[in-house]
Amino acid sequence: MEKIISTKIVLAGMTTPELEEFMVENNEPKFRAKQLHYWLYRKPVVDFEEMTNLSKEFRKKLKDIAVITSTKIREKLVGKDGTIKYLLEYPDGNVVETVLMSYEKRPNLTACLSTQIGCLMGCVFCATGKNKFIRNLTAREIVEQVMIIQKDTGSTITNLVFMGQGEPLLNYDETVNAIKIINSELEIGMRHITVSTCGIVPNIYRLAEVNRQLNLAISLHAPDHELRKQLMPVENKYNIDEVIKALKFFIKQTRRRITIEYILIGGINDDIKYAKQLNILLKDLKYNINLIPYNPVQGCSFKKPSRESINKFREILEQVNKKVTVRLERGTDIAAACGQLAGIITNAT
Ligand code: SAH
Ligand code: SF4
Repeated sequence: MEKIISTKIVLAGMTTPELEEFMVENNEPKFRAKQLHYWLYRKPVVDFEEMTNLSKEFRKKLKDIAVITSTKIREKLVGKDGTIKYLLEYPDGNVVETVLMSYEKRPNLTACLSTQIGCLMGCVFCATGKNKFIRNLTAREIVEQVMIIQKDTGSTITNLVFMGQGEPLLNYDETVNAIKIINSELEIGMRHITVSTCGIVPNIYRLAEVNRQLNLAISLHAPDHELRKQLMPVENKYNIDEVIKALKFFIKQTRRRITIEYILIGGINDDIKYAKQLNILLKDLKYNINLIPYNPVQGCSFKKPSRESINKFREILEQVNKKVTVRLERGTDIAAACGQLAGIITNAT
């Protein structure tokens, strides 16, 4: 089966000019590219048979030479709060997780995308970082995550966060390419897309030049070099001062407010002295700060922060910047929350 798929053209991720080229190569009129585009991206279908405005012969021909997507859903879990976690399988047998989050009082549907199978960065609190790195995803494989969810749920995704498995800025070209395709073909606005990074400094500079409306989130998690180094090995390569400098550049270049992500781990980085230090460190930046109470990860002995310490930390931050949010826990019952994506489907205990 795999073999057959690998010899066929995968249509997912193709842009209009690429679809037109595909038509010409197959002796079909160019206008058919538009029809195909509709069925791929506007009204996603599972089968060529459902593409009812295409002639029977053309549908048959397509079936012989192409597939719509190369990804399949190996497993799907639905959490109590409506969060859906998919385990997607690529033709080489590798799997990756993608999460869809919906909110009761908001019309937004946010997909949390993965960019790598595994991650090289080894942050001590993260389930993905505990897995070995296997490979980067291609732009098409990233785009397919959005297509597959839309096809499966029949709904339109409004927002994207690159906060799934992997470090997007270590798979820079494919991630940026995927963002461009998602923006042009699936028409999700750049303002609704957020890339989260642990701080790959040179690529923060590059990302600032991609599109002024793209959002950046930075996983800071500590206000100083020593503490950050204990939590995130990346600090040894790109230290916090270099990160702050790159963030300043990003803000200046794009004129956008960035998001600071800060995990609160009980007894490790949730003391109010760190909140005070953060206020000083961030004083020249334009930012929102998102506090993420630590989500339990297997093989990790960290504790969740207490409600009281979250509130105190928040109050200190709010003394200088009102834009502080505490991230809602989403999908913890299906291990779909931040940092719990391990590439295996398990119910959290
Ligand atoms: N590699 C990127 C994006 C994926 S991680 C990055 O690190 O930014 C997405 C977010 O989940 C990051 O802010 C990450 O620090 C956070 N995260 C990882 N493990 C977590 C855990 N156990 N609990 C809460 N958040 C976690
Ligand atoms: Fe990788 Fe991000 Fe997890 Fe760190 S937090 S190990 S960078 S996925």
